[in-house]
This record gives sequence, structure tokens and C-alpha cells, in this order.
Amino acid sequence: MNFSSKLLENAVNEFSRLPGIGQKTALRLVLHLLNQPADDVTKFSDALTKLKSEICYCAVCHNIADEAICEICNAPKRDKGLICVVEDTRDVMAIENTNQFNGVYHVLGGLISPMDGVGPSDLSIDSLISRLRENDVHEIILALSATMEGDTTIFYLYKKLKDFNVQISTIARGISFGGELEYVDEVTLGRSIVTRVPYERSIA
Ligand SMILES: [Zn+2]
Repeated sequence: MNFSSKLLENAVNEFSRLPGIGQKTALRLVLHLLNQPADDVTKFSDALTKLKSEICYCAVCHNIADEAICEICNAPKRDKGLICVVEDTRDVMAIENTNQFNGVYHVLGGLISPMDGVGPSDLSIDSLISRLRENDVHEIILALSATMEGDTTIFYLYKKLKDFNVQISTIARGISFGGELEYVDEVTLGRSIVTRVPYERSIA
């Protein structure tokens, strides 16, 4: 692509580094921004700058938050003894949208994937164990995607958690194998949380 301006080229190059954005789409977005009032463009760039510089990860559950402890962990009405383990913040949002869950979360930050070089130590598993040791937890729900990586991670966590006095459940798999949690519709996901099963029974 031949650009008439270095500034235009730089902006298009930055946009086209985003997933799913080719150079043509990037150019369209940049030209669109160029046509907006200066205030709107400043708001847009401020949102991105603040996103990176001010966002926190909850010290308890590792979810993306505005404060050191997230709103969910801070909410008095939430059952702190019921922890739903998920891969990332998109899963927290998906489960919250179902309005079927009143516990708290633990965000792993990924799934075990030897192919991608992701091992248990790359995930927030130690802090999950600490939460179990330090709090009165009665149930852990392993709500991970029905993929090879999800199953590997569930099995690893089960081995780590089974000696604690805690019920370990998995979400009911109305979700087909290979199904990523965030793509499941809210009704199916909500139902699969409510009808969760003890992990031992799910592998029998
Ligand atoms: Zn939290």
C-alpha cells in the first residue's frame, strides 16, 4: 500500500497489528477516525492509554478490574465458598451474563497446553490452592472449555485439589467437544452451571 502521508501509514500499521484487521480495514478505520471531531479521537486514544496504564488484576481472583480487589470479590452477597475456575475474563463475563451464578471466580489466565509451551506454573494455580487453604471453600466448579487443553487442565487441577475437603464439579457438557465457553449461548451456559456434576461422576 502506498501512503500519501507517513502519519497515515503509521496509524494504519498500528491498527493492522490487531487480530482480524487487514490493511484495508485498518485504512477504513483510520480514515473514519480522521473524520471525527478532535474530542472524540482524544477520548478514543485516552481510553486505550488508560486501559493499559490503570487497569488492575484482582489480587484474589485475577480478573481484570479497576481496583486491587474486583467488584465481584468485594460484593457481600456473593458466596465466597463457591469458586468457579475459568480460563480468562471473557468467561467471567459470559457466566455473569447468565445470572445463574452467585459465587466468586478464579481466573487461570490460560489453559495447560504443552504444544504452546504453557505449563501449570504459567497459570494462577498456586493462588487457587492458597485460597482453598486460607478460606472456607465448599465447592470448586471447573468451568473450562471442552477442548483438549481444557480437559488436560481440569485433570491437572483435580489431582491438585482432590485431597482438600471440597466438592469438585464440572459444568454439564451440553457444550460439544471443542466448544469454547465464550461462544456458548447464555441459556445453555446458565443451564450447564446449574446442572453441574461432581467431577468424579463426569469421567466415569
Ligand atoms: Zn476478584
